[in-house]
Amino acid sequence: MADHKLLLDGIAQEIQDILYGYVKAESITYSPAEKAAEQYFLRYFRDQPYWQANPDYVGAYPIPDDPFGRAAAFAMVRGTGEDTIVFVHHNDVVTVEDFKLLKPLAFSPDELKQELLRLRDTFPPAVQADLDDDTYLFGRGVCDMKGGGSIQMAVLSRYAQLVRQDPAALPGTLIVLAVPDEENLSAGMRAAVLLLAEFQKKYGLRYQLMINSEPHQRKDPEKGVFSLGSVGKLMPFVYIRGSLAHVGKVFEGFNPLTLMSEIVRRTELNLNLSDVVGTEAAPPPTWLYLRDRKIKYDVSMPLAVTGCFSILTLNQTPASILHKVRAICEESFDTIIQQMNASYTRFLKTTGQPLKPLPWKTNVVDFAALYQEAKETYGQVFLQEYEAELKRLQQELNQSRITLLECNFSLVDFVYNYIDDLSPRIVFGLIPPYYPNVANLFLNDLPASVRSLSQTLNQFTQAEFGQEYTSEYFYTGISDLSYTSISNGQEIIRSLERSMPLFGQIYDIPVSAIEQISMPCINIGPWGKDFHKLTERVLKQDLYERTPRIIQHAIHLVFDRNGEER
Ligand SMILES: [Zn+2]
Repeated sequence: MADHKLLLDGIAQEIQDILYGYVKAESITYSPAEKAAEQYFLRYFRDQPYWQANPDYVGAYPIPDDPFGRAAAFAMVRGTGEDTIVFVHHNDVVTVEDFKLLKPLAFSPDELKQELLRLRDTFPPAVQADLDDDTYLFGRGVCDMKGGGSIQMAVLSRYAQLVRQDPAALPGTLIVLAVPDEENLSAGMRAAVLLLAEFQKKYGLRYQLMINSEPHQRKDPEKGVFSLGSVGKLMPFVYIRGSLAHVGKVFEGFNPLTLMSEIVRRTELNLNLSDVVGTEAAPPPTWLYLRDRKIKYDVSMPLAVTGCFSILTLNQTPASILHKVRAICEESFDTIIQQMNASYTRFLKTTGQPLKPLPWKTNVVDFAALYQEAKETYGQVFLQEYEAELKRLQQELNQSRITLLECNFSLVDFVYNYIDDLSPRIVFGLIPPYYPNVANLFLNDLPASVRSLSQTLNQFTQAEFGQEYTSEYFYTGISDLSYTSISNGQEIIRSLERSMPLFGQIYDIPVSAIEQISMPCINIGPWGKDFHKLTERVLKQDLYERTPRIIQHAIHLVFDRNGEER
């Protein structure tokens, strides 16, 4: 495949035009406005001659049962041959709460820049320098990640023009996916996987590589970064049922707050729950939510407490994490019973009463065990009511009257209505979303051109721009690349079925479709800073000039290898 030198001529202006329009679609994640970004994407391609001649190559694949009717949008260019590179970007953005008075300008980069300059002195020196140098574009989504999305769109459009003149000029197929909901539950990407599985059958595509264009962050400002995988993320929940008592009779009760505190203390920032691959380590876990089930104040201890924490993974499965969580819950339970007994003994001695131990026993179960207990006791009645409750909760969720977290804990509460043994107990499990960890490192049989892609691209960037690029195994920002391949698929499904109450009903991961489309991945994106903040910004030189050329070269390298084999 020839490396078409002039293919990207004048693309800077085109990327800017696309990006300014894309940003204007104020597609805050999990909102109806995401449809505007989807429409913008579709219109951009449908207005071009290539897609007017090939209307099937652009479209939207609806997310099943989505409350906003959102879809994964796609555009495709087919040259000759089945080898396919898939590009993906998300077109949702996070909220603009931190813009405060500048909210109205969040989606207008030029006007925003003027106001930021006016407020220049209130920003840290790094931001001031980037404002003064005028090397960065500011605005919600310009960096994370409509910038990368606009590059992908402009590059695809150029290949469409090329293929119109000469189909043989592109020895393969290019697909750009634009997905919503990445900043929320990645519903868009999980639907896009189903679309890719359908295309694989329909067009006989052979997926070679998925390229995401999330912004990269730099430790060394002189060196860019390619990511050859993406961290996994899962969210264990803990629901502790205590035993209620009046504050005057504390030893008759079991306050679940003390046990939860012990579990929080043992898990927060606990590096034993994170893993290391090479010199990369997953950041340790942190608690995202902690709340008792008490609705108003009274003089008794709360009956139950709930919480969940986030764990990032490099090479762990839900089963291995849940195993560790169970052990921590059991150890914490033992410790707290010991402490309570010590206090009780002292209290009895002081008040001259005969010594006796408290009745509490360590009891830790996963959600499936609790469910099973309710089912064994109440049979069909429970099963019917459970189904009805799930439907009710789904409706509440779709109408945004409850959150996914409340939905999960309401369901545990509901099952507890059918539990006769009300002694203190911990129920643990997983709350959506689940992002599997992926890394090319773990994939066997990669073609040499893909295995060495990041090194070859580094040679290219050094030669072309005098710019070094390093590689990391994992993009730590959590990304849609998590759904490009999966290992231990069946084991993962078993874990999720056992431990994630909402799995298969309100939340799903198309594991078999992921196995079917399985492909290596890479993140090639512009340099960006302060994602999700008011000062979110992207390096213009990367956005308009360098990143599109790196991407073009990656396409060339992946397809060229195939050309040689034939
Ligand atoms: Zn992003």
